[in-house]
Amino acid sequence: MSRGRLAGPDRRGRFGPYGGIFVPETLVAPLAELEREYRRARRDPQFRKELNCYLREYVGRPTPLYLARRMSEALGIRCYLKREDLCHTGAHKINNCLGQVLLAKRMGKRRVIAETGAGQHGVATATAAALFGMECVIYMGNVDMQRQALNVFRMERLGARVVPVTAGQQTLKEAISEAMRDWVTNVRNTCYVLGSVLGPHPYPMMVRDFQSVIGREARRQCLRKEGRLPRSLVACVGGGSNALGLFHAFLGDRQVELIGVEAGGEGIRSGRHAARFAGGRPGVLQGTHTFILQDREGQIKLTHSVSAGLDYAAVGPEHAYLREIGRARYEHVTDRQAVDAVNALCRWEGILPALESAHAVAWVIMNARRWNRDDIVVINLSGRGDKDVEQLAKWESKHPGKTLRKGRK
Ligand SMILES: *Cc1c(COP(=O)(O)O)cnc(C)c1O
Repeated sequence: MSRGRLAGPDRRGRFGPYGGIFVPETLVAPLAELEREYRRARRDPQFRKELNCYLREYVGRPTPLYLARRMSEALGIRCYLKREDLCHTGAHKINNCLGQVLLAKRMGKRRVIAETGAGQHGVATATAAALFGMECVIYMGNVDMQRQALNVFRMERLGARVVPVTAGQQTLKEAISEAMRDWVTNVRNTCYVLGSVLGPHPYPMMVRDFQSVIGREARRQCLRKEGRLPRSLVACVGGGSNALGLFHAFLGDRQVELIGVEAGGEGIRSGRHAARFAGGRPGVLQGTHTFILQDREGQIKLTHSVSAGLDYAAVGPEHAYLREIGRARYEHVTDRQAVDAVNALCRWEGILPALESAHAVAWVIMNARRWNRDDIVVINLSGRGDKDVEQLAKWESKHPGKTLRKGRK
């Protein structure tokens, strides 16, 4: 299996049957312009040099590939953590935002807008906008604004205007719709900075490219430290940008297993989850054709996760494709398992992971026995958990007890 065939999308923005451009007529030209400018920028050594410089000096890249010794010992594997939690602003999202805002600047736009769920993408966009002196408007669901008050405060300090969205479930999906509406109206001076590998082409490709620095570093670091490639890569999947960012450099390495972990919420049978592959089917949402949680009539289902960053009804189209061709597999863990994994990682390694990232940690803990002692497992630690402490405290007081166990073969 060559990387070439896997590195899509095709000219229509398709990954196999997934992806594409499903937008109102008014957005077709702006998306085409964005793609053209992006492809030009990607080839321009000056652009690449400037972006790399900011990634190094401002974000703090490369992030370490850290051998988690006590965790490895406890689980009987060789477990590495890719430390995206150490990025400036506390998560991987800044990698993408810097790229897109730098591109907006190059295109002569003065204003950037974005949607945000957990608030991390809003903070990262507001940060990049401040860095380049741009006007910034962030759309955020009202429920998410309550759940992530700290991030709202941070965005406002950074000079962004945070607009509460009160439609529907008042979370990420509605915020994206509002941001798209703004973009249609203000496209002349505005760039829409999308936060994951979602939406119409070229976003899934562009966001993946900007995040793929994670896997390029991890691959090099693993070869340098161990002289061989990992057995498995494990990452949580909201839209799927941190996971694709880690996976992409390894797509051609067939022996490396790629595992994405979705939010199982309160369990698939409860219906309160965000596991698109376990509980969804193909459809179109917000510009792209992919796996979606929907009812029989095609109405988008309400989603649930303890982590705002995984709480979305659609998954990135490239993930749907990688799953279909058998290159990646997708699993899910529950809220409780993720919360327990936060605590486990704190005790083992002194690292407080984001609730999102803890889904990947939980899956590795529960399935530790499928690997051998010298198998290298790389977990993408997509973000840090400081933003989640209030949510964690609330969750634990409502759900006493503990269930996470090391799994059997
Ligand atoms: C936003 C977020 C995610 C989910 O987004 P992806 O696009 O799936 O990566 C995961 N982890 C953290 C820390 C986040 O902030």
